[in-house]
Amino acid sequence: MSDRSDHNGAGMKLANGSRVAVVGGGPAGSFFTIFALDLAERTGLELEVDILDPKDFHQAGPAHCNHCGGIVSESLVQILAAEGISIPTTTVHRGIDSYVLHTDAGSVRLETPLQEMRIAAMHRGAGPKGAAVPSGHLGFDGFLQGLAVGKGARLVCDAVAGVEFREGRPELIGRNERYGPYDLVVGAVGLNPHSLKVFENALGRYRRPTAAKAAICEFRLGADSVHRCLGNSMHTFLLNLPHLTCAAVIPKGDYATLVVLGSRVDKTLLQSLLRSPALKALLPDGFVAEEKPACQCLPQLNVQAATHPYADRFVMIGDCGVSKLYK
Ligand SMILES: Cc1cc2nc3c(=O)[nH]c(=O)nc-3n(C[C@H](O)[C@H](O)[C@H](O)COP(=O)(O)OP(=O)(O)OC[C@H]3O[C@@H](n4cnc5c(N)ncnc54)[C@H](O)[C@@H]3O)c2cc1C
Repeated sequence: MSDRSDHNGAGMKLANGSRVAVVGGGPAGSFFTIFALDLAERTGLELEVDILDPKDFHQAGPAHCNHCGGIVSESLVQILAAEGISIPTTTVHRGIDSYVLHTDAGSVRLETPLQEMRIAAMHRGAGPKGAAVPSGHLGFDGFLQGLAVGKGARLVCDAVAGVEFREGRPELIGRNERYGPYDLVVGAVGLNPHSLKVFENALGRYRRPTAAKAAICEFRLGADSVHRCLGNSMHTFLLNLPHLTCAAVIPKGDYATLVVLGSRVDKTLLQSLLRSPALKALLPDGFVAEEKPACQCLPQLNVQAATHPYADRFVMIGDCGVSKLYK
């Protein structure tokens, strides 16, 4: 029953009626689905695509969010527009026109050449914990997932906990039921350690990417304070603080998102950063370092790509397969 031997590559070409599973409905899984179904339609190929993900991007809070700074670069916004994908104005919480670099020696503003505010600041999920989300408003991941479903994919709310093989084709063991068998399984599980283990076991030679711990805090300052203090800039910090690599503060509607990267990201580092003269000068009067964020998380950041991110009938994409440059 659990036999992963195939037919030496024969019969592995996708054909009409082939079944594809996309495990993980974050940006990588949704983009794969959108473009795969587009290409299939253009070539007259009928594919059945299932996207499996336990998160509900209509709900606010960290359990239903793929934790991130939420900056989408001008180049990506333009590439998406060229593909006919326009990010809705209700998803973009701020158009960014400049980066301000703060150091212990002073600050410098780097304007975008055309000041068209095409760098988008967004929430990945519906919003921070406790946020009132107007009906129909989606974060970036929910918007993309909606497009993928609109192309014909079936969304399955389940987490994959194992893979077994039936006559050489993978079946996915979910929490609720068993899915497949599939002709192709696309792993798009981000950096979730349990999920990476599932794919290391299934693919054989695949080894997960190297990851570092980061922190994200959402402070609810109110739209006026956010506008007055941060304007339309993403503020980045290179400060001489122990264990700090860099930090950023990003304006988004009522919230300022603090992102921290470092060799040891913990409460001590967050407190010393929030007490630093550079941060104090930026944040509103009366903001105290002990202020409790409305929402916070300690996500993993991909710093080195995986090895062997493919095998017969499997491909690993997005954070679980490759690493990318950050702004
Ligand atoms: C602190 C921080 C700040 C960042 N800031 C930015 C930024 O400003 N701009 C930018 O472009 N990038 C940023 N990134 C990187 C960005 O978050 C990732 O590159 C991006 O989320 C990767 O997308 P993905 O679809 O590969 O994975 P993810 O977004 O992690 O999505 C993975 C999906 O898989 C699902 N999943 C996991 N396991 C299973 C399973 N077993 N079964 C089913 N589903 C599963 C999860 O629920 C999730 O929805 C940041 C990252 C960090 C850590």
